[in-house]
Amino acid sequence: MDAVAAIRRLGFRRWYERQLVVGHAWLAGCFLAIVLAAAGLELLTLGRGVAEFLFDASLICGAFAFGWLSWRRYAARMRCAESIGEQAVCPACSHYGFRIDSAPGGAPVPARPPAIPARCPKCAHTWSITPPPAADAVRHDADGQNNRY
Ligand SMILES: [Zn+2]
Repeated sequence: MDAVAAIRRLGFRRWYERQLVVGHAWLAGCFLAIVLAAAGLELLTLGRGVAEFLFDASLICGAFAFGWLSWRRYAARMRCAESIGEQAVCPACSHYGFRIDSAPGGAPVPARPPAIPARCPKCAHTWSITPPPAADAVRHDADGQNNRY
């Protein structure tokens, strides 16, 4: 589910809280994968036969794959929550949080707008929030910089 639909359904604050909880669950999964990979490396030996070796090697490969997947999901959720959260402060009254504004006439905004139409629940000021780029459009370089392609 994309962020706009989720924010519309849950509200900003619940959506943000959920991003943090689920993202950190993925981080815990990444930590578990590191422990499993270390245990697999500790057990890896040819002394007990090929079957044991293959089991330990598959444990290591599986742990690395799960760890990488967990890290990617954690980073994507945190990047999305940070990007939208930074823009969630009302420019008029500095209230934190927003509601998604509907188009005039009460019709819902299209599911994938270029920007999120935000409305302050305190003073009714409206502004646009730029959603983060899709995870596949951002590539990480070795120095940790995000580059859009
Ligand atoms: Zn406001």
